[in-house]
Amino acid sequence: MSQLNSADSSPVAKKYPPLVLGSHNRKKKAELIALLSPLGFEIHDLSEFPQSIDVEETGMTFTENAHQKAREQAKVLGMWVIGEDSGLEVEALGGRPGVFSARYAGEEHDDEKNNDKLLQELDGVPTEKRTARYVCHIALSDPEGNIRAEAENYCYGRIRTERSGTNGFGYDPLFEIVEYHKTFGELSPEIKSCISHRACALREFSEKLIGLFKE
Ligand code: IMP
Repeated sequence: MSQLNSADSSPVAKKYPPLVLGSHNRKKKAELIALLSPLGFEIHDLSEFPQSIDVEETGMTFTENAHQKAREQAKVLGMWVIGEDSGLEVEALGGRPGVFSARYAGEEHDDEKNNDKLLQELDGVPTEKRTARYVCHIALSDPEGNIRAEAENYCYGRIRTERSGTNGFGYDPLFEIVEYHKTFGELSPEIKSCISHRACALREFSEKLIGLFKE
């Protein structure tokens, strides 16, 4: 098993069981690893486990989906698994696309099609009504399928009328951080990793992890 960080020399790492990231999204995984590795956790990737499963997202909330992804994978692998579910909620659309963010454009979805659909649905909506937030729920399951730690956090912004920038993924070229006058597509990964919904949820989550394994 390859290790995704270099934490084995840390005395802290020895206290923690290895954790598996229960996500197949490459860019999301990179963000999670960048945020968790410096804390001294030994992080593993699903690609290291041929027996891992594709967990279907059938929940109606980010919490339910994050629990499902963590629990079901943990039971199959017999390891501690982190499940993450995230998405975009747009106020003018009553919170859509929400848990359907990844598959917003339907069967043949991809980031481009999802962004096109978002622009189309918000056509004619004035700037001040284009407020939105990213949501991220993170949960840790023990190898028996019990949720032992979790956190949820948000990143607030506004949906632009056209794409700008190529950084990030998903809706990032349209999602403007108002304070910066820039989209996540334009902001650097370093800034995103400080202020994103995933970063904020992970900060809270990592404190809980440390508390849990101190017990
Ligand atoms: P999940 O894999 O079901 O959690 O899908 C999350 C979806 O929400 C992604 O496919 C994106 O469309 C969207 N999303 C979540 N986090 C981000 C982000 O940081 N930037 C852009 N889009 C995101």
